[in-house]
Amino acid sequence: MKESTRLTTAGRHPERFAGVVNTPVFRASTILSGSLSEWEKKKKARANDEAGVSTYGRFGTPTTHALEEAMAEIEGGYRSLVFPSGLAAAATALTALLSAGDHVLLTDSAYSPTHTFLTRVLSRYGVEVTAYDPVMGGSIESLMRPNTRVVYVESPGSETFEIQDVPAISAVAHRHGAVVVMDNTWGTPLFFKPFEHGVDVSIQAATKYVVGHSDAMLGVVTCTREMWPRIKQTTYDLGQTAGPDDIYLALRGLRTLNVRLQQHWKSGLRVAQWLQTRPEVEAVLHPALPSHPGHALWKRDFKGACGLFAMVLKPVSAKALEGFVDSLSLFGLGVSWGGYESLIIPFTPSGKHLPARWPYAGQGVRLHIGLEDPEDLITDLEQAFTMLENIEAKADMQYA
Ligand SMILES: *Cc1c(COP(=O)(O)O)cnc(C)c1O
Repeated sequence: MKESTRLTTAGRHPERFAGVVNTPVFRASTILSGSLSEWEKKKKARANDEAGVSTYGRFGTPTTHALEEAMAEIEGGYRSLVFPSGLAAAATALTALLSAGDHVLLTDSAYSPTHTFLTRVLSRYGVEVTAYDPVMGGSIESLMRPNTRVVYVESPGSETFEIQDVPAISAVAHRHGAVVVMDNTWGTPLFFKPFEHGVDVSIQAATKYVVGHSDAMLGVVTCTREMWPRIKQTTYDLGQTAGPDDIYLALRGLRTLNVRLQQHWKSGLRVAQWLQTRPEVEAVLHPALPSHPGHALWKRDFKGACGLFAMVLKPVSAKALEGFVDSLSLFGLGVSWGGYESLIIPFTPSGKHLPARWPYAGQGVRLHIGLEDPEDLITDLEQAFTMLENIEAKADMQYA
């Protein structure tokens, strides 16, 4: 079955719900059993790890199980679990896999709250963290210690967009008995297949493209059969669960994920190519551009590109940057991404290995290209560049 077809069938069982196409929103805390023997049977089924069985709302309802089933199928893992946010998914997976005295290697380009969780929370429980250069590939071997349990990858990196050699990193990690955890939010369950590249545990901030409409928070962890018992147990031990209305929105979003992403990809690349021609722009960091340092790896490992990328402006005054951003009418100023609307946010990259991988002089600006017509977005950016030029010219006159 082709991917777009699978998206329409995954996790759907209309025969269980009076023929209703979409799994309804089941709101539940208590889930009743009709008899003591049914109660015992359900408990046994749960202990035997049967999917879709629940004895209490915290372990999910049919709404939850529909999304878990669909995500595992589409991303290509053994089983999935849902979380109230992408960060909760990452934090739980890391907690499940790390113990006191363990060491974790974290890509220097990781989503910064993930970094903070390791350094501010898990460090209190005796977990050691080392940030590594995201583009070091197989030479990560030199950083492996006997107690390295997890190698955390995120490709491309949040903000800085380095593409990692995930198969090479996974091979080294496995040779040393470590597990590979990946934040696959940019790749989405469609454009990067983590389990075909050696990843053991994949994290999706479903808040982004899976929900796709900027109206719910949700996270998903998908893992291999080997990782499942530990991930599942820790998720339940921490009381992680998610609300059925948000899960319903993710299920609804999933059905159109492919068509939306094809458009985000096409429009994003169109805007990125146009930005490359602008004299105000120092660099455009989009993995699908041949000029991107990670382009060959992207081409080898990814099936597409989402609508998120960055540009670096040539050095400008704070006032000109403000004029540029504030004059845009089709780009919202805000974090998150993956919705139908375009966004812009200036950023200052950080990280231990940053000087080596950030050779640019100017301001970083992250863009999310939504489902608007790309020509309208270009017109909007064009007038914003004119605004930027005018402010800079006026400042020059004052100093002349
Ligand atoms: C947004 C994001 C997260 C966190 O997801 P939330 O649902 O906001 O908690 C994790 N990783 C990446 C790459 C993200 O962009």
